[in-house]
Amino acid sequence: MTTPEITLNNGVRIPQLGLGIWQASPEETARIVRYAIAEAGYRHIDGAKMYDNEEALGAGVRASGVPRDEIFVTTKLWPTDYGRENATAALDASLQRLGFDYVDLYLLHWPNQDDALRVETWLALEDALAAGKVRAIGVANHEPHHLDDLLAGGSVVPAVNQIELHPALPQRELRELNARHGIATQAWSPLAGGPMTPWGRANPHGTALRSHPVIAQIAGRHGKTPVQVILRWHMQQGVVAIPKSVTEERVAQNIDIFDFELSADDLAAIDGLEVADGGGRTATHPDDASF
Ligand code: NAP
Repeated sequence: MTTPEITLNNGVRIPQLGLGIWQASPEETARIVRYAIAEAGYRHIDGAKMYDNEEALGAGVRASGVPRDEIFVTTKLWPTDYGRENATAALDASLQRLGFDYVDLYLLHWPNQDDALRVETWLALEDALAAGKVRAIGVANHEPHHLDDLLAGGSVVPAVNQIELHPALPQRELRELNARHGIATQAWSPLAGGPMTPWGRANPHGTALRSHPVIAQIAGRHGKTPVQVILRWHMQQGVVAIPKSVTEERVAQNIDIFDFELSADDLAAIDGLEVADGGGRTATHPDDASF
């Protein structure tokens, strides 16, 4: 079954479900990217310079045997590379590591605290778009005030805002704001992550959601797993989700979500799992991030 696509604000189409590869080693990345594309039917991979596995991402895409232009590849610019010239050089280096002439989506990875520098960097992404090195440009972890800066200082509206989003942190207001500007919302940590955060802290939300009785009951009724129900919740809200797994069985399971439909009651029950006051966040709030 093919993955549904969403049309971005510049007409480029993005598959609504992709594979995340943060914290996958280069060996795991090359293996799981090939598997996801060639065996499980994925056509969208979410990478980043910071994940330190761009070479392996490119190798996995080539090993899949599927033509490059049938696969949507994202990479991201890390804040230490911000600045107009630095950003241009960083994109060229990413393309070289990937072994590609272009990426489908290039994102500002985190809103650097220096607003003027971030706007200047956005102009480098606009240059890259005009030069055909990227098919779409966007941002990640941008709060409303970060978006305001770019909308005022740039001439291209971001195509995507990739944010932490899952039932414990549904991000309703930011999603609505994105939509008002024609910006697609992409969910990172769509399953609320693994048992530990990458910063070595226990992550209560991922495990709690996957074993939550409300989700287990809905899953049982549909003959699906709790993770499939969570991913289906994302799909039915028009969000693009990029669950990460290095486990083949899970990668296959995570894309097997297009043959059932959650009811309005199911969706409302899952909406009820929000943790109050943003308490479902597993990572640093963008306004508090120092990178
Ligand atoms: P996630 O996708 O919500 O969760 C990943 C965890 O769930 C891993 O421990 C994985 O285990 C497990 N898992 C996956 N499928 C499963 C299944 N079917 N059953 C049980 N467990 C399952 O979290 P994430 O990796 O933090 O986020 C996803 C992607 O978003 C990242 O890989 C990255 O591409 C992107 N991201 C972007 C940002 C940003 O700042 N823009 C930040 C974070 C993440 P195994 O791998 O061991 O199978």
